[in-house]
Amino acid sequence: MVVKVSAAAGTPDPVATPLPWLDPVLARAQALAHAHALLLHGALGDGLVECAQRIVSQWLCEAPPQRSSPCGECESCRLLAGGVHPDLFCLLPEEWLLRQGLPLPDGAAGERSDAAGGKRKPSRQIRIGEVRAAIDWTARTSSRGGAKVVLVHPATAMNLQSASALLKTLEEPPAGVRLLLTAAEPARLLPTVRSRCQVLRLTPPAPAVAMDWLRAQGLAEPATLLAACSGRPLDARDLAAAGLDAARWQALPAAVLQRQPGALGSLPLPTLIDVLQKICHDGLILAAGASPRFFPEAALAAPAASEALALWSRELARIARHADHPWHEGLLVDSLLARTASAWQGRFDP
Ligand SMILES: [Zn+2]
Repeated sequence: MVVKVSAAAGTPDPVATPLPWLDPVLARAQALAHAHALLLHGALGDGLVECAQRIVSQWLCEAPPQRSSPCGECESCRLLAGGVHPDLFCLLPEEWLLRQGLPLPDGAAGERSDAAGGKRKPSRQIRIGEVRAAIDWTARTSSRGGAKVVLVHPATAMNLQSASALLKTLEEPPAGVRLLLTAAEPARLLPTVRSRCQVLRLTPPAPAVAMDWLRAQGLAEPATLLAACSGRPLDARDLAAAGLDAARWQALPAAVLQRQPGALGSLPLPTLIDVLQKICHDGLILAAGASPRFFPEAALAAPAASEALALWSRELARIARHADHPWHEGLLVDSLLARTASAWQGRFDP
């Protein structure tokens, strides 16, 4: 199974590094030329997917190996850009594929097409059957006579059975096969998975680098949105793409507490829940007499009591883990705003 990992941004320039702060990580990846399994540890908002794509491109590029970046011109680079490279196997959860607008590959007995057609909930896990298919694939001869790559994104989507099934291949893959695993929270991986990989850390860019990049993406005042996203530039870019700017971000707490869903723009549900968690976080910080982190202090009225807000904050974290499908989204948004407003006023309804 081969999928094109890039979706939202279209086809990127294959030669230029899409995010300049990735360069040191890519250089370290290249220095680990003999590692057959890499674990890329970082946040989506810092460019985890883009970095993984770049490493895969480096590994599969057929230009002379002294190049520091994929050439963008060889047949292998062209196949990758077209999303049809025969020597790349992507292990990605169905839910992730659908969220990126990517097609689900056909599986045994049409199981996946049920998820595509909405007959069952798309899986958030990488399941054992998919891992076994990848392992079988690694045993076959390389189509282009060069490296073969398995991308596992995110590796934390593997359940106990699928992670266990991958251990032997991670330990000793067939000749020419390399594996790239990604994880925002490597602590959630089996220790036996972690210990079989060389770990590569993707750190957030310096604020000045992030701000320059965001300005180049067309954000006039990136500082507020960057702070709103804990310094993660891709998250700030996504907030701007959803119609938020600095002024609208600062107006969000009042809009939420007055239950005005229209003020939230076109935020996807997981982002909306993240915004509500940040409002609750800052409310709790404010109630404790400290300075809020995600919103300017002037944007927040003090909550009536912190106990209800703390309970609601915990409930939001639970909801966030399951908010992966837009069923009844409108009703859910209304309910989330109402419960946030109630908690702010000191009432928590379990
Ligand atoms: Zn190339």
